[in-house]
Amino acid sequence: MDNERASASASASPPHVLIFPLPLQGPVNCMLKLAEMFCLDGLQVTFLNTQYIQKCLLNCTNIESYFQRYPSFRFETLPDGLPEDSSRTANDIFKMLDSMEAVSVPIFEEMVTSGTYGPSSEKPITCIVADGIFCFAVDIAKRIGVPLLYFDTISPCGLWTYLCLPKLIEAGEFPFKGDDLDELIVNVPGMEGFLRRRDLPSFYRTKDLNDPTIQLVLNEDRHLPLAQGLIFNTFEDLEEPILSQMRKISPKIYPIGPLHTHLKTRLATETISNSIWKEDRSCIPWLDMQPIKSVLFVSIGSLAVMTMDQVLEIWYGLVNSGTRFLWVRRPGSVVGLEKEFEIPMDLSLATKERGYIVSWAPQEEVLSHPAIGGFLTHSGWNSTLESIVEGKPMICWPYFVDQQVNSRFVGEIWKLGLDMKDTCDRKIVERMVRELMESKKEEFLQRADQISNVSKASVSKGGCSYKYLDKLIEDIKLMTLSTSQA
Ligand code: UDP
Repeated sequence: MDNERASASASASPPHVLIFPLPLQGPVNCMLKLAEMFCLDGLQVTFLNTQYIQKCLLNCTNIESYFQRYPSFRFETLPDGLPEDSSRTANDIFKMLDSMEAVSVPIFEEMVTSGTYGPSSEKPITCIVADGIFCFAVDIAKRIGVPLLYFDTISPCGLWTYLCLPKLIEAGEFPFKGDDLDELIVNVPGMEGFLRRRDLPSFYRTKDLNDPTIQLVLNEDRHLPLAQGLIFNTFEDLEEPILSQMRKISPKIYPIGPLHTHLKTRLATETISNSIWKEDRSCIPWLDMQPIKSVLFVSIGSLAVMTMDQVLEIWYGLVNSGTRFLWVRRPGSVVGLEKEFEIPMDLSLATKERGYIVSWAPQEEVLSHPAIGGFLTHSGWNSTLESIVEGKPMICWPYFVDQQVNSRFVGEIWKLGLDMKDTCDRKIVERMVRELMESKKEEFLQRADQISNVSKASVSKGGCSYKYLDKLIEDIKLMTLSTSQA
């Protein structure tokens, strides 16, 4: 950057960034962290939540009063179009996206074109940061002449398998011919030799090219490269080979994660909770009473669901392994569980002895607790990164979207744990828990410790993610400046 532009960017009024996350726990959490880091650097931020998410946040956190420390920050809301009591789990994603398309998008469009934040308003937005799934943002940003940055909060390795879908179709690798899920995939550059069909996101298992998820992904593939840049919650050292591939479709890539640790570094203090469920903190004193690295944390995140049979297989596997465990059973996460069911006596007794169950946990804090020795996870990207930072090895039981890819990377590439995908059998659970928590414990912990150190270095001053965030903010200032001078 030449000096003249640099000083112009410094003296111009700060950019006004509108941040629009997909209204789910993971993306909202990430984007709130990004928003706070923007505020720390003096940017103005309008954070657009659905009314449902805003209500959950207000019920469960002190986020509104917390953000009052940043006069340049404000929340804005719009409806998602669903009835208040409608469920919003993984199986309802399409219902939510359709409803947002019909109800939320026109409101958003009006808001940023002719309404409160339009070009001729008092506080026009000068940049949009939106979830990568929001294809509509490309046209709207273009129409009002502001830059658009997509923030895809899933893993870049997962997203890269989305972006390779046209290539897979062209090469005849998708839809799969035959049923062998162990066949290697050859048309995802950077993943040759280890990515099997079963490691692609589960929606790849359809035989139907017109499947709505396939169409959604193809649409996202067409739109992502049209943004001025892509923001990712990862760090260069973890996913360098994949990020190099991504740079071929979008040269401006900003890997600025792990975001939760990055924010703590910049704030030099702990952060607040962004949970949309009430955290049950009673698990912390319980953990305080357990021996170091003796407890397996079990959670399938905010969207995945399991059947009652799967609950029992995992439960028996845990109990038979003899390990201590802390298990999150999110309300609504067990399909078909309408009424209290009778817990088998052996499970009940063993759980009282060495287990603890909560409906929602302060996960970051739990994972950082010295009593935690491992994590049985659904391999959601936030959970994976939170585990990586805390140096906790994983047993991966992926559910959907990027999770099948993440678990392959955890097991095969990063060697941070075991991939249990496509099985749910008490014997396998027991064997894997014993391996992670006993026979290979030291080996896994050592490896996890190494990668944890690299992750923390990336968000320290001078680290890759730290520099990328500075660059992102500088680029937003420059893009905004060139827009306002146009
Ligand atoms: N989480 C939490 N408490 C819980 C379970 C999950 O705070 O009891 C948080 C977790 O820390 C993570 C997010 O919920 O930040 C889940 O995001 P992830 O990407 O792992 O999975 P998703 O929920 O999107 O499937």
